[in-house]
Amino acid sequence: MTTGSAAEAATGRGGERLVVEALGIHKSYGSLEVLKGVDLRVRPGEVTCLLGPSGSGKSTLLRCLNHLERVDAGTVRIDGELVGYRVKGDKVYELPKREVAHQRRNVGMVFQRFNLFPHMTVVQNVIEAPTRVLGQSKAEARERARELLAQVGLADKAQAYPVQLSGGQQQRVAIARALAMQPKLMLFDEPTSALDPELVGEVLDVMRRLADGGMTMVVVTHEIGFAREVGDTVVFLDGGVVVEEGTPADVLSRPQHERTRSFLSKVL
Ligand code: ADP
Ligand code: MG
Repeated sequence: MTTGSAAEAATGRGGERLVVEALGIHKSYGSLEVLKGVDLRVRPGEVTCLLGPSGSGKSTLLRCLNHLERVDAGTVRIDGELVGYRVKGDKVYELPKREVAHQRRNVGMVFQRFNLFPHMTVVQNVIEAPTRVLGQSKAEARERARELLAQVGLADKAQAYPVQLSGGQQQRVAIARALAMQPKLMLFDEPTSALDPELVGEVLDVMRRLADGGMTMVVVTHEIGFAREVGDTVVFLDGGVVVEEGTPADVLSRPQHERTRSFLSKVL
């Protein structure tokens, strides 16, 4: 990988505070170049919606933000902290797993498939990480879980098992579980695309409220209505590059590029 100067890496860049600052991200799988130099900047409290055709690298980009994928070149900083690497002098070292895990606490992730622990109740799912990783007492974690489950409209499901819940309810538990780690950033990877259509709205409502509450979010979605209403910024990715980005009004209503227009005509 490449970085800027060591001093820059250590201190973050000057100027405004960014929750996400990904610069020049390149990622290949074998000979397939998936990301060809992507920049992504997200300010505190901002919701960035990431759009693009299937295979354009959206999931890969999200995974790079968390060092779930190792970038080939470029840097990711979350809240100013270089993710996955340490710079010493002019050398760059990958961080040991423990330290990467520590950095990942800052970032909550919700996937297309609600990967709850099937053998645990809803409340056990929510308190698992904060008790095990953050060292919260069970009582403290349960209290917080109650609040989070109320926030996602599932106060009455604390003792249910995932199999007893609808897909929409499971996805709302997955959101509560991610929030229990008190992340600085939430990443959503097509959180509603595996849901029956009638369940999409309840999950988007929870996400909308989270955004209204000031959470910084990057959301990969094909829900153009959500992007238009909730997004501060829309980023259109195609062929491993950011083709276009701007306000929802600009990108969704007045796209400048043919590729964006063509994509939108298919999903709208
Ligand atoms: P999107 O989320 O936009 O649909 P992805 O980031 O999942 O796109 O994938 C981008 C491309 O990278 C696709 O061609 C996909 O097949 C390929 N790809 C993703 N993950 C891997 C992997 N672990 N190994 C090999 N190829 C991968
Ligand atoms: Mg994807």
